[in-house]
Amino acid sequence: MTTMTNDNSGDVRLSGIGKTYGHFTAVHPLDLTVPQGSFFALLGASGCGKTTTLRMIAGLEEPTSGTVHLGDQDVTRLPPYKRPVNTVFQSYALFPHLDIFENVAFGLRRRGIKSVKKQVEEMLDLVQLGEQARKKPHQLSGGQQQRVAVARALINHPKVLLLDEPLGALDLKLRRQMQLELKRIQTEVGITFVHVTHDQEEAMTMADRVAVMNAGRVEQLGAPADLYEHPRTTFVANFLGTSNFIEAEVDGRSGDEIVLRAGAGKLVLPGERCSAPADAGGKVLAGVRPEKVSLTHVDDAGEIPEGRNRITGKIADAAFIGVSTQYVVDSPVCREFAVYVQNVDRDPRLAPGADVVLHWSPAHTFALDASQD
Ligand code: ATP
Repeated sequence: MTTMTNDNSGDVRLSGIGKTYGHFTAVHPLDLTVPQGSFFALLGASGCGKTTTLRMIAGLEEPTSGTVHLGDQDVTRLPPYKRPVNTVFQSYALFPHLDIFENVAFGLRRRGIKSVKKQVEEMLDLVQLGEQARKKPHQLSGGQQQRVAVARALINHPKVLLLDEPLGALDLKLRRQMQLELKRIQTEVGITFVHVTHDQEEAMTMADRVAVMNAGRVEQLGAPADLYEHPRTTFVANFLGTSNFIEAEVDGRSGDEIVLRAGAGKLVLPGERCSAPADAGGKVLAGVRPEKVSLTHVDDAGEIPEGRNRITGKIADAAFIGVSTQYVVDSPVCREFAVYVQNVDRDPRLAPGADVVLHWSPAHTFALDASQD
């Protein structure tokens, strides 16, 4: 089944949408556009307002301010059942007494449609449950039940599918499988998916675009790789994996690059990777991801290519974890600097107590405003 369309009826546009409960602001007025056919994730820790945002799209929660558009239609005042959306919840909410076929057929039958066989079978094939049609929900695994819930939500061809922590009840292995499965289903049906999760890996694996939410606000929005490589706040940098931060001061500009002073040394980064005001003397946090950093024993420091950012340190800890080793390095400019090195090029001298040079490309360096939070 392919419902790929060229229109914009599956665009979700939130304008100034906000929600307060009494004096408490769950969602500060926010603007957000989710393009038709994309897989969009709302990512954030518990209580950040992501479910409330999703429920305002669904019509299950009335916004205190702002409007919700689906395509060109203002749906802000429409009840949930009149919106071209459907929601899949963490609790699958399947009908226990109906078999899988009838669970999926339910939405069609409720609309008075008599000949449901072809549509239901297509939908069960889409979620790869064609063989299970006559089983009852309790005879299926958690992952299979979740796929039934997805099939049931898609049977009426919504323009937008909303998913509220749909994989939250599954164990880790099944979760990983279902992430890929949901992504495949979304690609196949081509409709807009808006997925709420607190799991950064899940959001990164599945979504084309991710909005990272914090305390009722969208802190940053972008493609997963962009958010990971170029976080603009310490919250985003820390929420999406491990970052090393070095306190630094802006020294000045050199062409398209910004030069920072950190301790006795200098760090360089491309101007567009600096989210802080780049005025000379300004305090920034220079950041780099652990896997972007190389470790060289101090005796070989002369072999490090020119043009790389470098700091010195001493290995405090080394944990061998199969394909890679995770080092913790104490440096005068950053205590507990994390470095992940693939074991193919592991130097046996890199053991606790060794003096090392940590070095990385300016292109993998980012800088954040040190005064922001
Ligand atoms: P979780 O992953 O735990 O569901 P979330 O990011 O989805 O978290 P929301 O459910 O959107 O967060 O809730 C945002 C904030 O609004 C929370 O602090 C929550 O306690 C509060 N909240 C949600 N619903 C209500 C309500 N009906 N009355 C009062 N406060 C509410």
